[in-house]
Amino acid sequence: MARYVYDFREGRREMADLLGGKGANLAEMTRLGLPVPPGFTVTTDACRAFLATGVEPPGMAVEVSRHLSAVEAGAGRRLGQRDDPLLLSVRSGARFSMPGMMETVLDIGLNDDSVPGLAKSSGSERFAWDSYRRLLQMFGATVMGVEPSLFEGAMALLKEACGAVDDLHLEAHDLARLVETYKQLIRDETGEEFPQSPTEQLRRAILAVFRSWNGERARLYRRREHIPDDLGTAVTVQRMVYGNLGPTATSRGGGSGVAFTRDPATGRPGLYGDYLPDAQGEDVVAGIRNTVPLADLERLDPASYAQLLHHMRTLETHYQDLCDIEFTIERGRLWMLQTRVGKRTAEAAFAIAAQLTDEGIITPDEALARVDGGGLARLMFPAFDTSAAGAALAHGLPASPGAAVGAAVFDPAEAVRRAAASDKVVLVRQETTPDDLPGMIAAQAVLTSRGGRTSHAAVVARGMGKVCVCGAEELTVDTAARRLTTRGGAVVEEGTVISVDGSDGAVYPGAVPLADSAVMRFLEDGGERSVGVVDAVARALEHADSVRRLEVRANADTSEDARRARRFGAQGIGLCRTEHMFLGERRRLVEEVILAGDDHVRERALAALLPLQRADFTGILEAMDGLPVTIRLLDPPLHEFLPDRTELAVRLASTAEPAPQDVELLGAVNRLHEQNPMLGLRGVRLALVVPGLVAMQVRAIAEAVVARTRAGGTPRAEIMVPLVGAVEELRIERAEVERVLAEVSEESGVSVCCPVGTMIELPRAALTAGEIADEADFFSFGTNDLTQTTWGFSRDDVEAAFFSAYLDKGIFLDSPFETLDRDGVGRLVRIAVDEGRAARPGLKIGVCGEHGGDPESVHFFHAAGLDYVSCSPFRMPVARLEAGRAAL
Ligand code: ADP
Ligand code: MG
Ligand code: MG
Repeated sequence: MARYVYDFREGRREMADLLGGKGANLAEMTRLGLPVPPGFTVTTDACRAFLATGVEPPGMAVEVSRHLSAVEAGAGRRLGQRDDPLLLSVRSGARFSMPGMMETVLDIGLNDDSVPGLAKSSGSERFAWDSYRRLLQMFGATVMGVEPSLFEGAMALLKEACGAVDDLHLEAHDLARLVETYKQLIRDETGEEFPQSPTEQLRRAILAVFRSWNGERARLYRRREHIPDDLGTAVTVQRMVYGNLGPTATSRGGGSGVAFTRDPATGRPGLYGDYLPDAQGEDVVAGIRNTVPLADLERLDPASYAQLLHHMRTLETHYQDLCDIEFTIERGRLWMLQTRVGKRTAEAAFAIAAQLTDEGIITPDEALARVDGGGLARLMFPAFDTSAAGAALAHGLPASPGAAVGAAVFDPAEAVRRAAASDKVVLVRQETTPDDLPGMIAAQAVLTSRGGRTSHAAVVARGMGKVCVCGAEELTVDTAARRLTTRGGAVVEEGTVISVDGSDGAVYPGAVPLADSAVMRFLEDGGERSVGVVDAVARALEHADSVRRLEVRANADTSEDARRARRFGAQGIGLCRTEHMFLGERRRLVEEVILAGDDHVRERALAALLPLQRADFTGILEAMDGLPVTIRLLDPPLHEFLPDRTELAVRLASTAEPAPQDVELLGAVNRLHEQNPMLGLRGVRLALVVPGLVAMQVRAIAEAVVARTRAGGTPRAEIMVPLVGAVEELRIERAEVERVLAEVSEESGVSVCCPVGTMIELPRAALTAGEIADEADFFSFGTNDLTQTTWGFSRDDVEAAFFSAYLDKGIFLDSPFETLDRDGVGRLVRIAVDEGRAARPGLKIGVCGEHGGDPESVHFFHAAGLDYVSCSPFRMPVARLEAGRAAL
């Protein structure tokens, strides 16, 4: 019989799949002896079963009630007990943290009968009524589906009627009235009474949390964060503790707060967080009142502060990482309500990894595991050139770093609309709520006038790697009028461009120009390393280079690219495309080669191209001296080199007496016209039907090798044949290549040996790799074409047309052009690797599609046993880092 419920004392950190992150970490803190209110967790198994069938899995209810009895026995009172009710929180918590995206219901167990009991046992009538109205509000919205703003509206009306500035100014009898209003609201909206039975409340709350897994917010967040939809959430049920018993409850009072063991923005060690006296936990993040810095707690309650510090040290030592924490102080007693390894910025991730290594807490391997290519890519983005910026409009808290420029927009829906029209926007709010999520995703940056570094805006933006400045209190944000006003009186209307610097919290008018980041300067030309984050990045890369098995090469078509690639750490060129060398001036010559009516014209054009190509190759071989340079023979889709057919026809039609060569040209273009050029006469096919083309290219390569050898260099050219589908194609082509190589060796007296290999970019090539390997000295997967031809997607057409619908429907989590499709394309890769190496042991195999620089794909290529990945120079540091992580 499946088991669905675990007491906190039974769980542990490693059980996050089953208990969710929150449940597993509460169990871990319990095991460590930290003060955690007792409770239990209903598993994700139960959630999945419930979501699949729509009914509670058999046995779950019995287990819940058994565990409830244990909590009741420990507390010495029963759930909802009339004279002294035990109350519970019912909390969502999935495997991966999804802050605020699912539901939590507090104060479960309270009803009309037990409110007076709670008033008596707590000594505060106000607290009892406040708890009841909180329950009605959360239960009404989350479980019974009442629109949350209706409750907020009723609360606002009451405050106005009482002249209360915030909820603390509402008296017990005001709150009692509010309870009646809320009950009526629930009745009106649902036609149902708020359930008075504590056990029914508990049961319905658990199921509602299960359902919140499929809430709109949660789904959107998962898509954005690439979290699978089928994990489900666990539900943690826990005894309530109260930070809102009122300032007079004891001399030390209480409150709630959130804390980090290090600065999540920069990684600096220390104590960071926000505290709100006389409050329940959800008030802190909701930004209902202004919080105080955590340091103030030392003055307010030194004993609890000292304990908190102690527990934070315990947690950091135990988790060996930055932790974030939710805590509540009830009558001077500290309770830990949540911890997890905290989200952080990319800068903080690298800095913390380096610091913890220095402190001897983790090994360099562990440090490498904790950073990632996505973060490194963010650190390589440009930053503002502040010397070119005007005076700042305001300064807020730098909550999530990066430089963003966009039109100020005050409404999430407007942000979505404008972003859909390819406008760059900055979402400006007083503070954000989970409902703002679509707008946050659409925006380049999020700017808020209220809330600390642990506010919703900050946490969510940091998780998404989105620029965020929060708590810019100098700004008055008027969302209704869609404008903000600075302290100095300047007004920014919707649509005005502003610049937001998430690294130092500054907000500037207009578009501030960008400058290279310090990390980029270092990577590109060995610039300053003394800056903390640069050194941390350098160390991570050095360690990655020392452990990785995959070589990392660059895709580079020019000697300039090749030099840059070398600075970025390239171990060669994995793809040198030659068609880019035929653009501009030379295009006319290529056109002649392809369209030439007679051999003479063609030969003349080829002869003109030869020295140009030779110079290209000489430059690249020089820049990459001593390292392999894989040169791909010409692979243009034909139409890229021909005049546009329609244009030409229109031009001719409008000319009275068209020139004969134009008429001839149109005839040729018509003859060669293709419906599907990407599947047409290109790659090896073109080489096989257009005489002389390959011979010219190979001669240019061979002569460049000769020139470099004579100059004392070590040229290592490799020749790669594109778009092969059958071994016969490669056999014929290879013979031609070797004939020319021999010819040039003979002429020059320098023996030119180049390995000849092929791209694997058609399913047929992958499936017959064993045969193709007979003729190939190496393979290189062209995963862009292989993805196109495996899925039957034309990349240029389908991405805009329907990929977003496919992502929405969950057909794929990522575009297969960004992250390699392991199951389909990946299977072909594995077949080709296995069969290629079976036929030719030790066959060198690499990949040269865009996927070579994609973190997840790099891990796949490592696992598939490739020798190298090749990607654009700017992606190389990411590939190096991820290749190192893959090898851990
Ligand atoms: P989220 O995942 O959105 O942070 P939580 O489950 O952590 O949701 O709960 C929301 C708020 O309720 C938090 O601020 C938390 O501190 C508070 N809370 C949860 N359980 C309890 C409890 N047992 N006693 C007091 N406050 C609680
Ligand atoms: Mg929480
Ligand atoms: Mg290709």
